Amino acid sequence: MVKIDVDRGLCVGNAMCVATAPGVFVHDENRQSTVVDAEGDPESLVLEAAANCPVSAIRVVDGGTGRSVFPPEPAPQS
Ligand code: SF4
Repeated sequence: MVKIDVDRGLCVGNAMCVATAPGVFVHDENRQSTVVDAEGDPESLVLEAAANCPVSAIRVVDGGTGRSVFPPEPAPQS
């Protein structure tokens, strides 16, 4: 399971994420995105929404490992 966070200080309310993954993101009364159900849509749609957010306000973290799924963490240096 992933954890999804929207930085409401960055969100400009253009609803791209709501259109892409409406089971996960909804707009509140201030037209800012909020997460209503982290499992409301397939993870692929959540990642698509995060990638298409114009202000990079969406973060996705693996709930098991705590590693950032989006934006992706750089590969470890060897
Ligand atoms: S795509 Fe980004 S800026 Fe647009 S509503 Fe969603 S979180 Fe906010």
